[in-house]
Amino acid sequence: MMQPRDLTQSADTSLPFALDYATMRQRFLAAARAAGAALSEHIHPLHGPDGKTIATDVAMIGQADAPKLMVMISGTHGVEGAYGSACQTAWLAQKANWALPDDTAVLMIHLINPWGTAWSRRVNEDNVDLNRNFIDWTARPPENPRLCRTALGLGCARLGWAGRIAADDALAEQTQAKGQTAMS
Ligand SMILES: [Zn+2]
Repeated sequence: MMQPRDLTQSADTSLPFALDYATMRQRFLAAARAAGAALSEHIHPLHGPDGKTIATDVAMIGQADAPKLMVMISGTHGVEGAYGSACQTAWLAQKANWALPDDTAVLMIHLINPWGTAWSRRVNEDNVDLNRNFIDWTARPPENPRLCRTALGLGCARLGWAGRIAADDALAEQTQAKGQTAMS
């Protein structure tokens, strides 16, 4: 019986699949260069678990002043970066099969949270979930009165005993008042 191949361990650098940050970056850059992309890098101030440099790479394909720009990002949740990286690399590697319309450019942002990818963390180096924090904190957050009423029961600032009991009580109270469906 044929054994499935573990493509992440392959030495074939033309394959998009990789599990470690360095290989993801190496394969993306190789595919982007082969596709004729204009590349720029944004070096992260911290390093990966191997002590080496980590960065977000940006590849631009098409005219810089094209009226339409498609932006593709990967690795917002760092630990999921391997999948997005593979998709970007695979797409770039098929350059013979696509042709961008003249009015369209593609901007690929490879591993927007390189620290999270390198360290296999969903969050970034500040423990921030970037996918939950795409918000302009200089402006007032949108009104959400329903959430505010239930927030006390859904999260407690401290996991200490009394705080936890108060949060459980608040959640039970809200569930009774609104019904289970409204709370889920
Ligand atoms: Zn995610």
